Order: sequence, then C-alpha cells, then structure tokens
Amino acid sequence: MIYLDNASTTKMFESAAGQYQKYACQLFYNPSAFYRPAREVKKGLDGARKCLLERLEAKQGQIIFTSGATESNNLAILGSRRNGKWEYVFSMGEHPSVFNVARELERQGCVVHYVLLKNNGEIDYDALENVVNEKTRLVCVMHVSNETGVLNDIKKVSQIVKSKSKALLHVDGVQAFNKIVFSVDELGVDSYTISAHKFHGPKGVGALYIRNQSSLKSIVFGGGQENDLRSGTENVPGIMAMKEACEQINVLKNFEQTQMLKKALVQILMEDKNIKIVESYSPYILSISYHGVNGETLSRALQDEGVLVSTGSACSTKKAGNRILESMGMRKEEVVSSIRISFNAYMSKAEVEEAGRKILECAQRLSSLKI
Ligand code: PMP
Repeated sequence: MIYLDNASTTKMFESAAGQYQKYACQLFYNPSAFYRPAREVKKGLDGARKCLLERLEAKQGQIIFTSGATESNNLAILGSRRNGKWEYVFSMGEHPSVFNVARELERQGCVVHYVLLKNNGEIDYDALENVVNEKTRLVCVMHVSNETGVLNDIKKVSQIVKSKSKALLHVDGVQAFNKIVFSVDELGVDSYTISAHKFHGPKGVGALYIRNQSSLKSIVFGGGQENDLRSGTENVPGIMAMKEACEQINVLKNFEQTQMLKKALVQILMEDKNIKIVESYSPYILSISYHGVNGETLSRALQDEGVLVSTGSACSTKKAGNRILESMGMRKEEVVSSIRISFNAYMSKAEVEEAGRKILECAQRLSSLKI
C-alpha cells in the first residue's frame, strides 16, 4: 500500500511507541503524586512542555496538554467566552473542531462572523479587517489548511486583529506544527493548537499553547491539573511519546524532502491537462481534481490499486459538499472531483512516482467510462 493520507494521520515512530510503553508499564506513576518516582514522571512532563515551547519558538507562555486538537480548539474557543455583548470571528476554512464550535456559539446566542476565503485559499484579509471591531473577543484563523495545504499569513492576521481590537487570536496549527518553520512569538498569536498524531506521535494527545493564562477559563472541572485549565490525570505515555516524536523531527530537512516528493508527483500529474492542482505553500498536502471524474470514485479505484488518498478531510461530511473548497469559489463540479494527497517525509520518491502514474491511469480510465 502507498499511504498518501498523512494529513489524516501518520504512522507512529517506533521510538515514540517505545516511550509510550516505558511510561505506560514502568514509569506509570501519577505525576500529581508526592513520592519520588511520581516526581520523576512530573519532571518528564515538564521536559515535554519545554520541548514543545522550544519547537514553537515561544519565549513566554505555557503548554496545556489535552486529548488532541479537537479538545485544544474547544478549550481555546469556549474558554475565551466572557459575559457581555462580545463578538467572535472565524474563517470559513476552519476544521470542524473549530467551525462546529462556532456554530454552537451561534446557537447559544453569540454574535458570530464568518470570513470567506480568497480564490487562492487564504483568508480574505480585507474582509477580516472589515469585521473585527472593539467588541471582538476572539478571532480564529488556521495556520495551514488541512484540505488544501494553503498557508494563512498569521502575522498579517495578528496585525489586523491587534490594530482594531483587544481580541484574542487563536490559531489551529495542526497541519503546520513540526512541518513548517515558524515562531509563535513572531506570528503574534494568543493560543495555538497541536496534535501529536499528525507528526508521528500517538492519537488522542495534543496540546494548547497559551501566551497568557488569564485569557482562558477551564471548560472541564476537577482536580485542577494543567494550571487549573484542564483537569484530569495527564496522558503521560501519550505526552512522552509526543515529545519523542517531536525530537525526532528535523523540520527544515523534512520540509525540503517533502517538497521534492510533492514536486515529483506534480510533474507526473501535469502531463494530463484534465488535472487541476491547488497551489499551496505546504509540501505536505496537495489538492487536485480531474475534470469530469468524481473524487470519491477515483479514490476507491486508487484503493484497489494500492494507493490510499482522501476525498478531503476525513472528519468532514462529504455529503454536505466541501465547505472549504466552495468558500474559495471553486465550482461544484471541481469540488466533487477533488481528492487530497498528503505526504510524509519518510516515503521514497519511487513510491510517490508510482502513485502518480496510478492516479493518472485510474482517472483516465474512469474518464473514458464517463463515471
Ligand atoms: N484541526 C486540523 C486542521 C486537523 O487537520 C485535525 C485533524 N483532522 C484536527 C484539528 C483534529 O485533530 P484531532 O484528531 O487531534 O482531534
């Protein structure tokens, strides 16, 4: 099988699984306990926080461990709510773990604004500027799109938000963290979401970076772990495995390697003029469509040929169409023809080229059958 759905999840590093095993079976102590072995575990967690803060290039702020990006996004959004007539702003490109929280805020009576994307997939910065005002409490704009790989200029977003309001800026960084080089300090974000299983760590563990503790309130109540922002005994094996995965990754080297893989695939796909490619900054994600061929049919045919791709985010309902591609102004026919190909830095060029040829073969065959 050639696995090209790494934006959905990645294979865990063996060394990360080793750390998981160690902290599940040997150093299994509760990090909140007072005795010595437990204090060692707590030290391990502090090391993991430091590791993530370093990778985020954050000189200040803290890491709150969570059960993954969905929880991190919920905490950043719901935890920022305050009584009064506040407004909330979301880009239309957000993952469901942000977008459906926005919908929930609306249901609860909050004023929520949605900002459309430009044709190139970035948020419409002018539209954002028009909607942010002194009543804005929170703005959410993702860093790299999980559907298209398009990068938003978060520094520019931050400048817009901070010049017009005292609002917080939350960024979902799931498809950017450990994939592209950046510094949260330079970007000017207030909170940033991370998920371990997108960078060869385990599923069900992630983190929320927050610059300022007082900007957030907890959304779960209990023993007061994680500076009272996320009660519940920490998932120590998961966190230590996440740290290990993080340490194994050389972001720049992997970026260059993946860029080479993506270029090799694009070169093959461009041989057929029926293929349309969404240009994107991230080398890890490529969204394409083949004129007249249904994306779901194509991805099923590819599965039979041993190539696994996605028809878009695994978490979004395809029946409802693709909100993100549609909000970029893509025509309906193109949206239903879209497939998402997503790489990891450890695959070979030969594998990617083989997948490219199979994509062409399958698409051309289906096209001739008019499916
Ligand atoms: N945000 C983005 C951009 C994602 O791609 C994903 C995973 N599809 C999530 C959030 C949710 O991540 P998790 O599975 O860790 O909840």
